[in-house]
Amino acid sequence: MLPSTTTRILGSFLRDPFKRIGVNMSSSSNTGTTASGKRRKRLRVLVDMDGVLADFEGGFLRKYRDRYPDEPYIPLEARRGFWVSAQYSQLRSDLCEKAISIWESKDFFSELEPLPGGVEAVKEMAKMDNTDVFICTSPIKHYEHCPREKYAWVEKHFGHDFLEQVILTRDKTVVSGDVLIDDKPDILGVEPKPSWEHILFTACHNKHLGNDCPHRRLLSWDDDWRAVLDSKRK
Ligand SMILES: [Mg+2]
Repeated sequence: MLPSTTTRILGSFLRDPFKRIGVNMSSSSNTGTTASGKRRKRLRVLVDMDGVLADFEGGFLRKYRDRYPDEPYIPLEARRGFWVSAQYSQLRSDLCEKAISIWESKDFFSELEPLPGGVEAVKEMAKMDNTDVFICTSPIKHYEHCPREKYAWVEKHFGHDFLEQVILTRDKTVVSGDVLIDDKPDILGVEPKPSWEHILFTACHNKHLGNDCPHRRLLSWDDDWRAVLDSKRK
């Protein structure tokens, strides 16, 4: 028997037609039906944004060189390590702040170019049977522009309805899914055993990692991402 408070809340949900649709959707959201009538678990794919769908590294270098044309820079071929600011700091300590100033600026995130094939791949995933895809992205803590611009970027490239599929979080380990496609080699958080398998998306800063990196890779969106998804359906 449900506590009376729960009953009241559920009752108000069921009287509201819009919310009732939501309840129906969620009750069928993690299973599908096969041709033989068997119920099948839906695959939940989490896709990172910067460095996977949006060209953070390319956008950063272009704007950094525009703003600081006389300062040294790191070409993309020479990028090592996930944190751009750390490598610029090694180049010269005061360049760390200059690097940070680029992605903290207005329009940085909204003007990032899509990486080749990423938007198309995610749109295709979203249409696949028994598949739910979410864009799972960590906004920077300087929140004046970044969160809004991430939503604007998704709306621009995927359409307004796709905003339902956006997860903004600083800790991806607490988000459940079957697979997380992400260019960051080490994704840590409060959950020591995330439910997803991390597929490392190759980027200029991680392509040199060899055996140090235990994850399966997706070399680009031309790589066989469909096979990765299929491997998780078994
Ligand atoms: Mg990323």
